[in-house]
Amino acid sequence: MRKKIVAGNWKMNLGLEEAKALVSELKVKIDHQKDSLQSHGQKLPEVVLFPAFPYITRVVDIFTTYEGVSVGAQNCHHEEEGAFTGEVAARMIKTVGASHVIIGHSERRSQFREDDQLLAAKTKQALKNGLTPVFCCGEVLPDRENNQHFQVVADQLQKGLFWMDDQQLAHAVIAYEPVWAIGTGKTASPGQAQEMHAYIRKLIADSYNQELADKMSILYGGSCNAKNAADLFSNPDVDGGLIGGASLKPADFFEIILALVNKG
Ligand code: PEP
Repeated sequence: MRKKIVAGNWKMNLGLEEAKALVSELKVKIDHQKDSLQSHGQKLPEVVLFPAFPYITRVVDIFTTYEGVSVGAQNCHHEEEGAFTGEVAARMIKTVGASHVIIGHSERRSQFREDDQLLAAKTKQALKNGLTPVFCCGEVLPDRENNQHFQVVADQLQKGLFWMDDQQLAHAVIAYEPVWAIGTGKTASPGQAQEMHAYIRKLIADSYNQELADKMSILYGGSCNAKNAADLFSNPDVDGGLIGGASLKPADFFEIILALVNKG
């Protein structure tokens, strides 16, 4: 069975007090729900929180005893260490207790000009240091309008991620995030999401094997919220979500987590 995952990408948001308040509200909700789910033979999906770098250790400490809640970084550098002022290495992220790192988010591809080669180097650093890369891919609107969206996503995956062998790829998570849906309030329809997720899974099957394709978690991201999460998650190839804006509101984020529990 594939892992079901709800990930919260806080981006460059929240002051320390706000971050602490968000986490404590989330913790209360998780505590409250855990036992009642257990009594119904259900459990929460894996939750991964991606705070900004300065908050990682705090969030790690808070959830240290919580099975199923982990913490990741929103980025890492592509080199092991060295004279890269202001940058953070995968090894550092790992040593402070984080387990995941987002690589290839569209904001980094567009605002920081991160290309496929660089992203491949970042995924190498992630794996080498025992971090799970959450590798983002997705087309911009003109790609979709020109019916190029499948090719664009295939290219991003082949160049950035598919350098891995099958055992390495088994450690990665893929997030399909149509760029036109990120932070815009426009969501892919459940049909559009399923179509692309099934395409990505077939790509893995064709490039590697069906067993690996069936094992890999593919998350949807792009204006996923408490209202539309259940519909998006009901698709057979959507294994959860990478959530931006709605992850900053604990009640909404928790609704999204519950929507994935109900996927069954
Ligand atoms: C994201 O940034 O990964 C994202 C999905 O953002 P939002 O949910 O705000 O569209």
